[in-house]
Amino acid sequence: MELIRQLHDTFKPLAKIILFCDGMILYDHELKTYCFDIKNLDSLDKYSPYLCIGQNNVKGEHYYVINVEATEQVHGIFMDPIKIEFIDIRLTLSFIPLDQFQLLSRAAVLNKWRLANGHCSSCGLKTSFNTLEGAPDCDCSAAPAYPIISPCIITLIHDGNRVLLGRSKFFPPNMFSTLAGFIEAGENAEQALAREVMEEVNITVSNIEYYGSQSWPFPSQLMLGYFCKYESGEIILNDEELEEARWFEIDKLPIIPPDTSISGQLIRSYISGRSKLL
Ligand SMILES: [Zn+2]
Repeated sequence: MELIRQLHDTFKPLAKIILFCDGMILYDHELKTYCFDIKNLDSLDKYSPYLCIGQNNVKGEHYYVINVEATEQVHGIFMDPIKIEFIDIRLTLSFIPLDQFQLLSRAAVLNKWRLANGHCSSCGLKTSFNTLEGAPDCDCSAAPAYPIISPCIITLIHDGNRVLLGRSKFFPPNMFSTLAGFIEAGENAEQALAREVMEEVNITVSNIEYYGSQSWPFPSQLMLGYFCKYESGEIILNDEELEEARWFEIDKLPIIPPDTSISGQLIRSYISGRSKLL
């Protein structure tokens, strides 16, 4: 997909609309999509200019993000209100494919970015959209307000046939996941990983090995995924982030995140690698 960050006064042909309201996304459970044809929606004229976030060069579709003020404003004449609803973005992780999550993630991050930058963070005046930069801009000396992405580490700590997983109090019952945290100013990713693991579970690790990364729109992180090897220490919960952390044998795992998330991918990847060794 070609990434675009521009405001359009009118929709391009084959426009697909992604709608948010109060941080939730509109989803059609029957068609299994969050991208709506413009013909199926009530008038959205009041939301012009529209934020275009990308174009699928194969299908010729342009994707637009609109933040509506009230959920009733999108009950289009072709849509069955029983089959569509605004849902928490996190809930979509359990049922949408990974390739769809990437566009959803971009839409969610850029929706919040547009909402947050209607006024200049430096002088408070209303911003205007700088089409060259693809970002809200101001006549004062402040730089254009580009989207801000926050880098985080996320890591699976392994020790042979066991892995260390933690759970936050916000997780569903019996769900455990990998550990994660924001990278501090001045740190590199490996230092952040070692610090976060020590802060959260009192464990030292070694053999930090990069796995891959994922955009994570809660609210706007880039998750850098790593494996690391247990080195020493007993689990002690040092801060308030985790409710529980435990070692699990890889054949006796609790509920783990879906593979839409990099945490789920890290765990499954490690297990499949170990399984080949057994
Ligand atoms: Zn300003």
